[in-house]
Amino acid sequence: MSEYIDVPILVAGSGPAGLATALALSGDGRRVLLAGPPPSVQDRRTTALMRPALAFLDQLGLGDQVRAVAAPLSVMRIVDMTGRLIRSPAVTFRAAEIGEEFFGLNIPNADLNGALAEAVRRRENIAWHECMVGEWMPHADHVEVHLADGTIVRARLAVAADGRDSPGRTAAGISIRHRRLPQSALVFNFAHGRHHGFTSTEFHTEHGPCTQVPLPGGFRSSLVWVTRPAHADELATLDDEALSLRLEERQQSFLGKVTVEPGRQVFPLSSALPSRFAARRIALVGEAAHVFPPITAQGLNLSLRDVKELTDITHAHPDDPGAPAVLQRYDARRRPDILARSNAVNLVNASLISSALPAQFARSAGLGLLGRAPGLRGFFMREGMHPGSGFAALVPAFARRT
Ligand SMILES: Cc1cc2nc3c(=O)[nH]c(=O)nc-3n(C[C@H](O)[C@H](O)[C@H](O)COP(=O)(O)OP(=O)(O)OC[C@H]3O[C@@H](n4cnc5c(N)ncnc54)[C@H](O)[C@@H]3O)c2cc1C
Repeated sequence: MSEYIDVPILVAGSGPAGLATALALSGDGRRVLLAGPPPSVQDRRTTALMRPALAFLDQLGLGDQVRAVAAPLSVMRIVDMTGRLIRSPAVTFRAAEIGEEFFGLNIPNADLNGALAEAVRRRENIAWHECMVGEWMPHADHVEVHLADGTIVRARLAVAADGRDSPGRTAAGISIRHRRLPQSALVFNFAHGRHHGFTSTEFHTEHGPCTQVPLPGGFRSSLVWVTRPAHADELATLDDEALSLRLEERQQSFLGKVTVEPGRQVFPLSSALPSRFAARRIALVGEAAHVFPPITAQGLNLSLRDVKELTDITHAHPDDPGAPAVLQRYDARRRPDILARSNAVNLVNASLISSALPAQFARSAGLGLLGRAPGLRGFFMREGMHPGSGFAALVPAFARRT
C-alpha cells in the first residue's frame, strides 16, 4: 500500500542544486522532502565557486569543510591560441587588483556533493527518499508527486532541481529553448612539474577553451578541455602517456612535465533557457533553469543564487511558499541575472567558435581593451564574482540602491 505524505516543500533532484535547496529551505525549521538518488562519488570534475557562493555555503554551515579541500584562484589568464586571422592579446586578471586575496575556490565535486549530502542527512527536518520522482501532478493549491519507492507526496511548493532534462519543468508546462552545441568537454585531473601559482589559465582555441584550474598543493590541476565531440572522444581514448603529451603540447609546457591521472569524463555541451522560472507551484533551480557551456565557471554559482533568492522569498511567505504571487516574484527576481549570465557565456562561446571576421574582431578588440584598461578589467572582475558589484564600484549611488 502507498504511503501518503503531506509536506510544505518537496525538492526533486539531489545534485548540488537540489541538496543546497533542501538545506537552505529547511533552515527555518520547515519540513522538506527531498527525492533523488545519492550523488555519484565517481564525478572527477571540480567546481570553481566565487566568493558570494562561498558566503552562501558558509550560511549553510559548510564553509570550513569545503575550504579544507579547495585551492584558491588568485589569478586568471586568457591566452589566445585560435590561429585566427585576428587574434587577441593575452589578458591576466589578478584578484589583488580589486583588493581581494582570491576570486574563489576550486573544489572537487565529490567533496562538495559529499559535504552537502552529509549535511542533508544530519538535518532532522529533511526526509530524503533516495529514489526518482516518477509522476508529477500539479494542482491549484498543491503539487502531487509519485515516488519510485511508492510514496505519494503532496506539497505546497515543489522545487525542480532535477537537471537539464527536468521532468518537473515539463510538468509545470514551461517551454524551453534548447540548442545542442558542436562541442564536448573532456575533463580529467593531472600532475605537473611546475607550481601553478594558484593561477587558472584558459587557452582559447577555435573549438572552445582548454582550461587548467589549480588544485591544492601546487603541483596538481584539473582540466576542462572544450573541443569538437570527435576530438574529445579521440583524446579520451588515448593512453595516459599519449594524453599527457597532447596536453603538454596544447599548454606549450608552461607547467612543465604533465602526468594525467586516472579517470576521464566527456560531457556533450548544449545551451537551454526556459521561458519562465516557475509555474503551477513548481520553481526551477540549477540546470533545470539554465544550461550553458562550462566557460568562465558560472553554472553552479548561478544555481546557488537561484537557491538563495528562492529561500529569501519563501521564508517571507511561510504560510504558502508555493502561492502564485510568491512564484511570480521568484520568476521576476531571477530573470535578469539568469538571462544576463546565459547570454554572456553563450556570446563568449559563439565569438570563439565563429570564423566570421566581425566576431573575431569584436573578441580581439574586447580582450585588447581589457588588457590595457585596469578600470574596465576591475569592473569585469567584480561583476564576474558578484553581479552588481562592478556597477556599485563605478557608481556609488548604485551601491546604495543595491
Ligand atoms: C565540465 C563541467 C565543468 C563545470 N565547471 C563549473 C565550475 O567551475 N563552476 C560552476 O559554477 N559550474 C560549473 N559547471 C556547471 C555545474 O556543474 C552545474 O551547473 C551543476 O552541476 C548543476 O547542478 P544541478 O544540481 O542543477 O544538476 P545535476 O548535477 O544534473 O543534478 C540533477 C539531479 O537530479 C536528479 N534527477 C533527475 N531526474 C530526476 C527525477 N525524476 N527525480 C528525482 N531526481 C531526478 C539526477 O539524478 C541528479 O542527481 C560545470 C559543468 C561541466 C559540465
